[in-house]
Amino acid sequence: MLSVADASARILAAMSPLSAELVALDEAWSRVLAEDAIARRNLPPHDNSAMDGFAVRAADIPGTLSVAGTIAAGDVPQEGPNRADRVASADKSAPDAGGDGLAEAGIAWRIMTGAPMPPGADAVVIREEADDRGHEVAIEQGAAVGAHVRYAGEDIAIGEVAVPAGTLLRAGEIALLAALGNAAVRVRRRPVVAILSTGDELVGVDVPPRPGQIVNSNANGLAAQIREAGGRPVNVGIAPDQLESLSAMLRGGMTADVLLTSGGVSVGDFDYVKEAFRRVGVSMDFWKVAMKPGKPLAFGVSDSGLPVFGLPGNPVSSMTAFELFVRPALLTLQGCAQVKRPRVHVVIGSDYNKRPGRAHFLRARLERRQDTLVAHIHPKQGSAMLSSMVGVDALVEVARDAGSVSAGTQLPALLLSAV
Ligand code: AMP
Ligand code: MG
Repeated sequence: MLSVADASARILAAMSPLSAELVALDEAWSRVLAEDAIARRNLPPHDNSAMDGFAVRAADIPGTLSVAGTIAAGDVPQEGPNRADRVASADKSAPDAGGDGLAEAGIAWRIMTGAPMPPGADAVVIREEADDRGHEVAIEQGAAVGAHVRYAGEDIAIGEVAVPAGTLLRAGEIALLAALGNAAVRVRRRPVVAILSTGDELVGVDVPPRPGQIVNSNANGLAAQIREAGGRPVNVGIAPDQLESLSAMLRGGMTADVLLTSGGVSVGDFDYVKEAFRRVGVSMDFWKVAMKPGKPLAFGVSDSGLPVFGLPGNPVSSMTAFELFVRPALLTLQGCAQVKRPRVHVVIGSDYNKRPGRAHFLRARLERRQDTLVAHIHPKQGSAMLSSMVGVDALVEVARDAGSVSAGTQLPALLLSAV
């Protein structure tokens, strides 16, 4: 039986990134950047004050300096009287700005946070440490050159890679891209993912099931997983367990970037998915992957290069197989540099019985106790038991060759949520 790692490697090897598209920065959240964002500007763009206070020459203090004027954020000290000075000029105590904005020896400028440093000044003394007397200021403490000064380009300099290609854009990256003036960015196209559910017993979520029928929960569960992985789900419908119509509906899903089917891939009398794939020209590898839940899995690529996944029908199996195989594939299609979930060490809170042979992925809720993450393993681990999916923080992995494990054992886990 194929290992999870081998199946995953084979699948990822068959994926190449989709094309890029230009989107407005406001549309770029949770998209993957397609090319390095190189800074075309310095950040900050000019030397400026980090605090409200006085811009001085460090060599002049301690001492009493004459105040040449006030520089506000948005002013340009080199260009004559400043906005703040104009505002303040009605106030007789305000000094004349002088106009050239230079900080000559013995001169200080009153300066606000974010305002450009006047040429010649090399430090800022914060307002709380200065005795502001209007025309002059007394400063008792010295300051190092550079104190409270933010230098042009100290955050990001022109030509530096601000955000590398392959980065999933979150709020922080969006803010930086905005600060650098990127009103639009190139991101990878979102993969369109078709979902075809198979099974005579299935009805849509809005239909009351008759005796023997169940709701097609996989379509909704998979659609949500697709969205979480950056894809766009398209529901192709429910195919009956009948070769002709199954094949016809498969064709309907083949215009997508990825096709998922659920159910019909095991060895039951009515499991026609294998045969239907063959009919529509998809050469499939059918695998028994050494995992639980989710042993039967099919993967292949069509003549036209469409990746196709045949996921198991049991709801927890299909979602687990999605998590382990489809999610990384969708992220690879989006050019994402990081496609695997973070792996953490957890300590399990209860015993778990298992025989060697398959890797088990246990749904668990995590609790932080001091420096330890305790995994509360859901008591209902059946592959059809969807109640175990509620509030899941992690999939705890019990290795293929391992037998039963007892409470207190440390195990690896795939982190599904921030805890
Ligand atoms: P199969 O792999 O088709 O034999 O299905 C295995 C189990 O999963 C059966 O109990 C099916 O009824 C169930 N199942 C299959 N497809 C779905 C689905 N789309 N939603 C919910 N349960 C399903
Ligand atoms: Mg079935």
